[in-house]
Amino acid sequence: MKGAGDLSADQLLAIEESWGAHNYHPLPIVIAQAQGAWVTDVDGRRYLDCLSAYSALNQGHVHPTILKVFQEQAARVTLTSRAFHNDQLPLLCRELAERCHSDTVLPMNTGAEAVETAIKAARRWGYQKKGIAPDTAEIVVCHGNFHGRTTTLVGFSSEPEYRRHFGPFTPGFVAVPFGDIDAMHAVIRPETCAVLIEPIQCEAGIVMPPAGYLRAVADLCRANDVLLMADEIQTGLGRTGAWFACDHEQVRPDIYILGKALSGGFYPVSAVVGRADVMNVFTPGSHGSTYGGSPLAAAVARAALRVIDEEQLVDRAATLGRALMKALASIRGGVVLDVRGRGLLVGIELDRPARIYCERLMARGVLCKETHERVIRLAPPLVIAAADLHWMVEQIVAVLH
Ligand SMILES: *Cc1c(COP(=O)(O)O)cnc(C)c1O
Repeated sequence: MKGAGDLSADQLLAIEESWGAHNYHPLPIVIAQAQGAWVTDVDGRRYLDCLSAYSALNQGHVHPTILKVFQEQAARVTLTSRAFHNDQLPLLCRELAERCHSDTVLPMNTGAEAVETAIKAARRWGYQKKGIAPDTAEIVVCHGNFHGRTTTLVGFSSEPEYRRHFGPFTPGFVAVPFGDIDAMHAVIRPETCAVLIEPIQCEAGIVMPPAGYLRAVADLCRANDVLLMADEIQTGLGRTGAWFACDHEQVRPDIYILGKALSGGFYPVSAVVGRADVMNVFTPGSHGSTYGGSPLAAAVARAALRVIDEEQLVDRAATLGRALMKALASIRGGVVLDVRGRGLLVGIELDRPARIYCERLMARGVLCKETHERVIRLAPPLVIAAADLHWMVEQIVAVLH
């Protein structure tokens, strides 16, 4: 198999090098095709995808059920603009709200847009419902956060390279150490309208908060009339062995922020799902998106959710995740400082840069990527076969031992 126009991998890499912006540092593999947990490069070599586009592919590559819906919907109607109604969006709203045990859904496209939408909701709720003085609302975030790449979102990142020379930044955010409930307590003020938090910090290196932390954050928010906004873009929709990572501590956030696997990798679909009394701060004209809630997006998202249900991917992530952690227990020691995670979201922390190990894994047919330099993130599609997962572990053990 060859790439587009029968170009070789080297030719394609060279074209991208000269014509593409250099805001990524990909492994030198050129993928031409994929199915389930496996991808094939332009030379016909197969690799196990253990990154899943950062959980966008929980349902696996080109899932047949989603593909069928995608093709049929694309042939019918793709985009109407929100100036008119379409016959898919109402059903997505109901199905997704019910799934979140919540009330109201606002669809967007990318994860970053959904986070921005949640920030707008929280601020307006703060002014209109909590009585915060105009333009003084504050949102608490955590050190090590990753919520996306807009200028507002990188403005409260603690990662220098995400921020460098992109300022000036949006005010109104205060950051506290992740996992430290006392520090969060200390910054809550009457002007605080929301806490914005990832239940597990993925980009930061699969950083797990101490047990009970999310519960304590939820209680703190409730006691102070502060909204809890959970960014479950990467941890949600089955990845951690629960529908949402917040479920592990029986926490029901006021606002869920979803994306990535909400479309199973077919088309960017994100959403904010929240309590009616928060989401109804949005009135006609106050917010919007050309593609958000399009019939194609809504149909794809409905199919993506249905696949998680029908194939019991939540239970699968829990079961396979337990097996994975057990199998990886033996690699501790040597260069491996820590193995941590939940469900099929696992970080292997090394005492040195992880890139070279990712390259060695690639040579053995396993695709994964370092995050935060020293952590290998493992997040295979939830549809991965148990035997493939076992094979992945063998390759990891071989490379790290
Ligand atoms: C990926 C991600 C985002 C941003 O989503 P985009 O679709 O890339 O804009 C935000 N928050 C978390 C936790 C993510 O993993």
